[in-house]
Amino acid sequence: MDIDPELSVVVPMYDEEAVLPMFFERMHPLLDGLGLPYELLVVDDGSRDGTAPLLLEAAKDWPQLRVIRLLRNSGHQAAQSAGFRSARGQYVVTIDADLQDPPETIAEFLHVMRERDLDVVYGVRSDRSSDSWPKRTTARLYYRLMCRLVGKQIPFDAGDFRMVSRRVVDAVNALPEDGRVFRLVIPWLGFPSAEVTYIRAERAAGSTKYNLTKMTRLAFDSVTAFSAAPLRLATWLGLLGGLMSALFVVGALVIKLTGRGVPGWTSTVLAVSVIGAIQLLCLGLLGEYVARLFQSSQRRPQFLVGYDSLEDQKRVEPVA
Ligand code: UDP
Ligand code: MG
Repeated sequence: MDIDPELSVVVPMYDEEAVLPMFFERMHPLLDGLGLPYELLVVDDGSRDGTAPLLLEAAKDWPQLRVIRLLRNSGHQAAQSAGFRSARGQYVVTIDADLQDPPETIAEFLHVMRERDLDVVYGVRSDRSSDSWPKRTTARLYYRLMCRLVGKQIPFDAGDFRMVSRRVVDAVNALPEDGRVFRLVIPWLGFPSAEVTYIRAERAAGSTKYNLTKMTRLAFDSVTAFSAAPLRLATWLGLLGGLMSALFVVGALVIKLTGRGVPGWTSTVLAVSVIGAIQLLCLGLLGEYVARLFQSSQRRPQFLVGYDSLEDQKRVEPVA
């Protein structure tokens, strides 16, 4: 492949063997039909199933398919970072492997992007009826909170299905921070953008790779990346706790001085438990930030590349 691709399609994949054949079947004619040089950049996020051999098999007679294999499961966002770093196109679109994001929308993204000379086109799902009630509710809460924290209009219900320009890719790659949350960092950068609505389908095969732990991680990363407000809340609670304990001390002194016997057991228990609770809460919040500082001070790589089929054509055997 000697022509530089104009479009890079980045697909993070973790244990997607069930959906992979369908994904390729739909993607291949579609990308070929767009009429521009492209690359399909699959980031295999340390899959343990048959994803890696399937990818390598497909790459044999699909020169535009490039595979980057991360040594371990580093998470959806880190996989996107790996894709962004490696993408060569002027336009870079990220799409899930499970066909929930209709690949046909890519043509629309491209059209809007070129027509209006934009840097970001967000895919916004027109309804969430395919999601369960708890997922819908937590998602709504998440986007409300994030709008406030980032201080910008975060497009609601825009996941990670979007197209960005080379300028955006370079800007994101230049950010030194770890634990990037793409859906927040990109609107925060502030490039001119538009939204394209689409109907989000059911997962075509396999099951979700976003378990509760990963979703909680995303929520914590989102909050701590953009706001010190919880830390301030801890300070306020700490002040409140201090004030309350001061009142307890004054009360105890008054009781003692007026000689009205042993201070009540209830108030002691109350004081201990209230202060204990507040301290625990504050410690928890502080812990989140300390953990973040700790992680960035370690400067650990966010991902480790097993091989990159572009740079290392010979080492195409999957990492066992
Ligand atoms: N994914 C990934 N690493 C992970 C979890 C997920 O690369 O640790 C990929 C996954 O293969 C899919 C995309 O991220 O292409 C979105 O995941 P999924 O569809 O499971 O999430 P959901 O749609 O259920 O929120
Ligand atoms: Mg999905």
